Amino acid sequence: MQIVSSPAAMQRLAQKWQRAGTRIGFVPTMGYLHAGHLSLVQRARQAAGSRGKIVVSIYVNPTQFAPTEDLANYPRDLKRDLKLCRAAGVDVVFTPGDAAMYAGKAEGIYSTFVAEEKLSQRMEGATRPTHFRGVTTVVAKLFNLVQPDMAVFGQKDFQQAAVIKRMVADLNFPVKIIVAPTLREADGLAMSSRNKYLDAEQRAQAVILYHALQAASAAVQTKSISAARLKTDLQEFITAAPAARLDYVEFFDPETLVPAARVKRGTQMALAVFFGRTRLIDNARL
Ligand code: AMP
Repeated sequence: MQIVSSPAAMQRLAQKWQRAGTRIGFVPTMGYLHAGHLSLVQRARQAAGSRGKIVVSIYVNPTQFAPTEDLANYPRDLKRDLKLCRAAGVDVVFTPGDAAMYAGKAEGIYSTFVAEEKLSQRMEGATRPTHFRGVTTVVAKLFNLVQPDMAVFGQKDFQQAAVIKRMVADLNFPVKIIVAPTLREADGLAMSSRNKYLDAEQRAQAVILYHALQAASAAVQTKSISAARLKTDLQEFITAAPAARLDYVEFFDPETLVPAARVKRGTQMALAVFFGRTRLIDNARL
């Protein structure tokens, strides 16, 4: 397994592979890897084939964090991540630094960003207004450096995957986007690097996100319910976890992300819940 930290070196390696007709599968991450990330690596390997090359990037991208967010505290453990990548059969781990990724930013020279302007407005975009601009910018840069044939994203970040798919279509990136299912802990909590922030009590109550998805799913299997009514019910449902504070719960079309007035089987639900300063998200097709 190779570890590459220079963007120029990564791009040269990718160009060499592309000239040789080698397929490149890519999994972008912010590190602190868990089994969910590794399932994306397996999915990328399946798509790229045994002769393909799998690149995992580990980069905590500053432009997708607001100044008030957890950039400085975001969990990091590169040594452990590299061990996990090696065991998972990754070919290259790309670990660029901020100075190389955003050259000229400190001097105020860096001035190009990629923004998706529709799907990124609600939900995560409403709570974190600059977040998706940072995500689309860094993913566009990573695609230019890694030159993947296919890239795997997690369903866990449903809106992110939708925004990336839109960007790829709108800007003609020659990259196939694969969205892989959410891996969960035994009790149903979606695996996330941010789960590490939870204390024992918050961790026990964090399963409320999954239970809310299950309750909503059960409620709409045989009938439709008004979104407003279901939101009120779920708000109340979530107060059963005293450490939880609901940020949003939304119902929408899984393709267009257009909010649904009535919720039925097949509607997508997404929610974000605070436990102290930690914000967890989850979603499911009901
Ligand atoms: P992150 O490092 O948290 O930014 O995530 C990197 C990639 O892993 C994103 O495409 C996420 O959607 C995906 N991911 C995060 N958590 C999970 C999970 N529990 N199951 C599957 N994929 C995940």
